[in-house]
Amino acid sequence: MTPPTVLITGASTGIGATYADRFARRGHDLVLVARDTARLEALAAQLAAEVAVDILTADLTREADIAAVEARLRDDAKIEILINNAGAGLGGSFVDQSAEAVRGNVALNTTAVVRLAHAIAPRLVAAGTGSIVNLGSVVGLAPEFGMSVYGATKAFVLFLSQGLALELGPKGVYVQAVLPAATGTELWGRAGMVGADLSGMMDVNELVDAALVGFDRREGVTIPTLHEGELWDAFDDARKAMVPRFAQLLRADRYAAA
Ligand code: NAP
Repeated sequence: MTPPTVLITGASTGIGATYADRFARRGHDLVLVARDTARLEALAAQLAAEVAVDILTADLTREADIAAVEARLRDDAKIEILINNAGAGLGGSFVDQSAEAVRGNVALNTTAVVRLAHAIAPRLVAAGTGSIVNLGSVVGLAPEFGMSVYGATKAFVLFLSQGLALELGPKGVYVQAVLPAATGTELWGRAGMVGADLSGMMDVNELVDAALVGFDRREGVTIPTLHEGELWDAFDDARKAMVPRFAQLLRADRYAAA
């Protein structure tokens, strides 16, 4: 059987380009999406010996461009795997970030992710197969890192992935959230953190190969740098223990008027 086609956003460099390399090695044809056509063409030329590679130049913060990617995901029945990877950091403190920078970061890291998942999901559900992989971040679990907007977008990605896993999983569609910690890519320089020490970060190959082990195991949430997997399990168990206790007629004792 021919492996399904994989559409990867943010494929011109970093984590997305590494996913492209790995899926090509596995024999999947590719649709690569990013803004930089020249870089996409260079990667496509490199991988073309192994698989068919199509490129789609798109700025996922622009309406016309995102609509074109949505249409491709809706209409191209060969695409059964979406790697929702395009994303950007946002340097500086909340009061110093410009309104336009905040808007752009939220648009790319959340709106584009949910719109592309929404474009492909009905077709995957109808087929009873396929996968959606969303790149979150450990920052989405750690307001202490002081990256409030970026972290909030990544918390959105985690929640969306967990929700979609519950909704789409029983219909045959696998949804994975991948939560990298600091990884040595261009993201840091692009976000204005020019002095970031990439040598102290996880290598992008290590990150993607570990994420793909999680993918192959159909893991819901993959945190490649977290050695103590049981900590995530305990965290998630504590959350699940609260769920049946939220809806009550009476307030908790601690909210009795003083
Ligand atoms: P990267 O090296 O900066 O690559 C980002 C990719 O997204 C590039 O291919 C870029 O290509 C594309 N992109 C950026 N803005 C875009 C836009 N407006 N429209 C379309 N494509 C756009 O970053 P990375 O480290 O590989 O990050 C990939 C994902 O992992 C992101 O979601 C990021 O938040 C997440 N992550 C990264 C780290 C880390 O430490 N690196 C940690 C946790 C999570 P063009 O410039 O050609 O458009």
